[in-house]
Amino acid sequence: MSRVAVITGGAGGIGRAIALRLAQDGVDIAIVDRSAECDELCALLRGLGVRAGAYQCDVSDFEQAGAVCGQIVADFGGVDILINNAGITKDNLLLRMSEADFDLVVDVNLKGVFNFTKHLSKALMRSPAGRIINISSVSGLMGNAGQVNYSASKAGIIGLTKTVARELAPRGVTCNAIAPGFIETEMTRDLPGSVKAAVLSAIPLKRMGNPGEVAGLAAFLASEQAAYITGEVIRIDGGMAM
Ligand code: NDP
Repeated sequence: MSRVAVITGGAGGIGRAIALRLAQDGVDIAIVDRSAECDELCALLRGLGVRAGAYQCDVSDFEQAGAVCGQIVADFGGVDILINNAGITKDNLLLRMSEADFDLVVDVNLKGVFNFTKHLSKALMRSPAGRIINISSVSGLMGNAGQVNYSASKAGIIGLTKTVARELAPRGVTCNAIAPGFIETEMTRDLPGSVKAAVLSAIPLKRMGNPGEVAGLAAFLASEQAAYITGEVIRIDGGMAM
């Protein structure tokens, strides 16, 4: 019986790479994203021989998330892997940060993780090897000037990950976090040249990462080989936050 993965923010850079990588491992994929335009990605996934479906949802909306999770379980017959990946930035220095931008980023990045983890926890407990993989960030480990909202949300994900790991371990579900550094996606594409140069000088490996590298780590954490790893936070950042 093939496994089923739910990937939030699955239409974006890292989420899409994880979807394609897991599909190569024979995992059926439910893409959850704000936009419904996932036909091309779903066709690619089906071309790899797996079942694929797209579900439109704002992950920060508890009710919507519950309805979508119920629909996915009904459509696929269960869920084995949850990748909480949807995320946004609304950067500004603390002195200029609006309450609305703080709330929005925490609602999407942190509450969205709570929503999907809560609504899928029973399905994951029914899986013979449930896996939850949360995409945090080095900003949540180190802090980052201009990202008080984003850093708080990503640090919150780490606390959530460790608590969920403890609560669901007796049911055979592991829960881990990945903390990427700077990865080449839409999120980092528009950084000013001066910021990019400063970032590169702080990365020992002297380059940004690519989504495929994050996807490889997610695929490992989702695999049988990672069965004894839980409550862990793994950096993938070219050495930036060591
Ligand atoms: P992208 O912007 O490429 O992808 C994010 C995806 O999440 C998009 O498809 C976006 O949809 C979707 N999304 C945003 N808000 C919501 C929402 N409310 N409900 C549902 N879907 C939503 O970014 P990345 O692939 O780079 O980021 C993926 C994750 O990795 C994020 O959590 C990010 O914080 C994290 N990360 C990224 C790093 C990087 O350097 N790129 C570094 C560290 C962590 P839409 O396009 O419609 O906005």
